[in-house]
Amino acid sequence: MTNSSVLALDIGGTKLAAGVVREDGETLSFLTVPTRVEEGPEACLDRLFTLGHAALSAAGLAPQDARRALLGCGIGCGGPLDSTSGVLVAPPHLPGWLNIPIAQLAHDAYGLTSVLDNDGTAGAAGEWRFGAGRGTRHLVYLTVSTGVGGGFVIDGRTYRGAAGNGGEPGHITVRSEGRTCKSCGRAGCLEAYVSGTSIAERAREALEFDRRTVLAGLPDDEITAAEVARAAREGDELAAELWQETCEILAQGLASIVNLYEPELVVLGGGVTRTGEQLLAPVREKVARLAMGPAAGAARIVTATGGDRAGVLGAAAIAFERLTEHDGAGTPMPTLS
Ligand SMILES: [Zn+2]
Repeated sequence: MTNSSVLALDIGGTKLAAGVVREDGETLSFLTVPTRVEEGPEACLDRLFTLGHAALSAAGLAPQDARRALLGCGIGCGGPLDSTSGVLVAPPHLPGWLNIPIAQLAHDAYGLTSVLDNDGTAGAAGEWRFGAGRGTRHLVYLTVSTGVGGGFVIDGRTYRGAAGNGGEPGHITVRSEGRTCKSCGRAGCLEAYVSGTSIAERAREALEFDRRTVLAGLPDDEITAAEVARAAREGDELAAELWQETCEILAQGLASIVNLYEPELVVLGGGVTRTGEQLLAPVREKVARLAMGPAAGAARIVTATGGDRAGVLGAAAIAFERLTEHDGAGTPMPTLS
């Protein structure tokens, strides 16, 4: 193995993932463990770095060889964070993680130059480099799962904003004075309507007014976005209404994004998109209707290819980008080594 591979770490609220990824997107190893956020940052970080070592070993690398054999380490995590200094500021999905210098800690653990980016930004970079977005110049990525994350590739470059917190499509406002967003606390975010959690929550609320639905037969904790989708497919009226509203609001958010960026491609990933055309077909039709002329026509809407490995592929993509390429001004991208 030459140094055309990287170690990639993905820090989620439920799951930690690590893998060694080759330049062409081939995962040489891929491992996950539960995050167990309730145990606090120290125990979780310990588990993360142990997982990284196991990923190196599963790819056939002894710890002492990693530095020579790999280009570096990429880390993806939800923000807020500082991608330049590699510090996690205070991610809401990781209670107690305050100002964690994660890139430096990864460097200490593996002896590798390490870079940090928002997981949504990393996901966009991953789909652009390895997945559905290969060969495009302008791409929008949205992951619709527990929350709604995402990122942007503009003119072939990953967009980060000033400190790595730019490109949060889940937190554009779709309803003024609307539902409270669990991630950011504001009212009316896209995430507060179309995330898996929010779809289930809206279903439970609807049941308080109308129980003529198969969902009424389920215990509260079994009412999930997947159950709503399934009931809608089977012709349940309330579920179909909830699903249609979900598609409509997602399309409203996407139409605003399409108007802003005129992307060639909109890539949708995350658990909720496992419903496939049940989500995509109405969303395509509505975005075409809601977005402005040429931009609406230009944007193809497809599902992501990263699947369960999206986080690791994204973290790998940002490592390849930042450790081998230079920014538009001709200066190396900031790294911490
Ligand atoms: Zn929000």
